[in-house]
Amino acid sequence: MQRFQHYIDGRFEDASANFPSIDPATGEPWAEMPEAREADVDRAVEAAHRALRGGQWAGLTATQRGRLLYRLADLVAANAARLAELETRDTGKIIRETSAQIAYVADYYRYYAGLADKIEGSYLPIDKPDMDVWLRREPIGVVAAVVPWNSQLFLAAVKLGPALAAGCTLVVKASEDGPAPLLEFARLIDEAGFPAGVVNVLTGFGATCGAALTKHPKVAHIAFTGGPQTARAVVRNSAENLASTSLELGGKSPFIVFADADLESAANAQVAGIFAATGQSCVAGSRLIVEASVKDRFLSVLKAKAEAVKIGSPLDRATEVGPLCTARQRVLIEDVVGRSVAAGAVLVAGGKTPDGPGFYYPPTILDCSAVKAPSVERELFGPVLSVLSFEDEAEALRLANDTPFGLASGLFTRDLTRAHCMMKRIHAGVVWVNTYRAVSPIAPFGGYGQSGHGREGGIAAALDFTRTKTVWLRTSDDPIPDPFVMR
Ligand code: NAD
Repeated sequence: MQRFQHYIDGRFEDASANFPSIDPATGEPWAEMPEAREADVDRAVEAAHRALRGGQWAGLTATQRGRLLYRLADLVAANAARLAELETRDTGKIIRETSAQIAYVADYYRYYAGLADKIEGSYLPIDKPDMDVWLRREPIGVVAAVVPWNSQLFLAAVKLGPALAAGCTLVVKASEDGPAPLLEFARLIDEAGFPAGVVNVLTGFGATCGAALTKHPKVAHIAFTGGPQTARAVVRNSAENLASTSLELGGKSPFIVFADADLESAANAQVAGIFAATGQSCVAGSRLIVEASVKDRFLSVLKAKAEAVKIGSPLDRATEVGPLCTARQRVLIEDVVGRSVAAGAVLVAGGKTPDGPGFYYPPTILDCSAVKAPSVERELFGPVLSVLSFEDEAEALRLANDTPFGLASGLFTRDLTRAHCMMKRIHAGVVWVNTYRAVSPIAPFGGYGQSGHGREGGIAAALDFTRTKTVWLRTSDDPIPDPFVMR
């Protein structure tokens, strides 16, 4: 069985314990992963702290940091196929998506490479004639980057790119459910020439490795992506070290379709929004809110598309929906779909676990427009669409905002005035109008409410990894006047 190693202080090493990683397509173990415990975490944070405070990394100019990021981007692009295969093997995400996504990850590193020497301080027009005062932007410190299993290379890039551009050092904790791609990615960090300790990559379990990392006294900032329950534990951990946090959490995103929309195009976007990545996407458009007059027509188009989806091995390029990542995810989905049907939701498509190996679950549509079903509220992280319907704009908006989450949203209409009015009132960090599931390094991304706070992507994300230092320089040679009065 293939065995992976940690990357701590510029060295690849075995951990004192290992755990098996399961191939979601077969349900069988396929590789051994190193399990980081408290002592490993401590060594990684200490290494990151040393690299931050002195030595080679701290002495680089911002332009030189940018060059290292450009080199990393080229290596990611050159190794995209290999990394994609590993991610697909370890998480079950289809190869079509992992190969495209990892190739695009290189562009995130390029974006932040270019930004490294554009993070500027400022000069203040201070209200005292004998003072020059300016702000320096300095790296915030050691960053703990904690990521979930889905899109790990992408979710690590949106933290590593801006943090490294800002001059921080990091300990990245890969998810225990599919850490192979990030552990392998560490080889590219090494090859790119980042000094030892600047980036450390490990994995282990949340309650041990994750907790030790997010509580560590030398961690200054926690960049976390995962579920809201885990986020609460992470915030409690941060009470120990008083680290700042940015939280990218889950969602129950509304997908609103008005009768005047291009229904064929909206149906394709809905398929992308809920069945792509087997629905295991934080931005999954999992609540379809469709105008009542076109509900039946839209559902029959969607049903046909859901039933035509090609389910199969995630390594097969023809596959459109692969397995779920874990067995426990499927148990949760089966339970909530079962309870929703029992509550009166109508099964339009799917809803039945197939026989055979692997953690497969079919594209599923539940019409919940006449009942209160648990599938409407709970983030399922799977290919399950709950359908609601509305009569007018006000009702569409009420249903869209009837959730504690606020990550993404989709709005489908040809009426531009309506689109402008609605997008201002939707309670979400992203509104896609007549499209869905589009991202870019240039565009900030993040949630409202229980979907978290902080933004990833864009220029401001790099500033979030800095803090300002105010420097006061007295420009007069006269003796300091009255020392008992504050200047
Ligand atoms: P999770 O919350 O279970 O785990 C995320 C990470 O936190 C893992 O690395 C885990 O080991 C770690 N962790 C667990 N307990 C911890 C603790 N006590 N202290 C510190 N770390 C701990 O999430 P998951 O099931 O792996 O991923 C699915 C969730 O992630 C969904 O809710 C999804 O919406 C969310 N997500 C959000 C985004 C976004 O950008 N907003 C992107 C992808 C996924």
